Amino acid sequence: MPQKVICKDCGEILYSDIDLKPPEELIRNFEGKCPKCGKELSYNPENIEIRELYE
Ligand SMILES: [Zn+2]
Repeated sequence: MPQKVICKDCGEILYSDIDLKPPEELIRNFEGKCPKCGKELSYNPENIEIRELYE
């Protein structure tokens, strides 16, 4: 299932691919913070958004 990870704070798309990755791994790839706005990322639905890609 396609996966999209978006920073809830600034809307930056952090990850968008057809491959599913565990959120913890994605967060680790970004060293725990959003590269755009610097917000700390955690596996919390209030901070990041994971949803299906439809396009
Ligand atoms: Zn951000």
